[in-house]
Amino acid sequence: MRISRKQTTPSTSQRRLLLRLLREESGHLTARELYSRATEHDAEVSLATVYRTLRLFKEEGLIDEMRFGGCTCRYYEATRPGNHYHMLCRQCGRVLEFDTPAVGELMAEVERSCGFKVTGVEICLEGYCPDCAQKEAGKSDQ
Ligand SMILES: [Zn+2]
Ligand SMILES: [Zn+2]
Repeated sequence: MRISRKQTTPSTSQRRLLLRLLREESGHLTARELYSRATEHDAEVSLATVYRTLRLFKEEGLIDEMRFGGCTCRYYEATRPGNHYHMLCRQCGRVLEFDTPAVGELMAEVERSCGFKVTGVEICLEGYCPDCAQKEAGKSDQ
């Protein structure tokens, strides 16, 4: 008797599609967001395939996996050269990015004063994005 196992190994075209979607997004997708986008192009893609592919991409260094604040969902983005840091809107859940030379200066300062060799940094600021901040301000005006 053959046990039929559900095929979760992504086909080459599915792999290509998922990577393209991650790169096109130039932002941060959860597995479910990526899944819903992928099914618009390929109805055969399953959520299991998406999870599996994300794991492979991560192992291959093609994407970064992030978890913000107390949020249990993971966000994924295509890796790209250069540093950037994240801002998480507590209202709408959008993830925005920023970069500032101040972070490099901070790392250099820490290396100098603590003798700690910094190899990476993760920064996530929490707050309200411009849209949500404006809405909040509007509310308190009334
Ligand atoms: Zn990012
Ligand atoms: Zn917002």
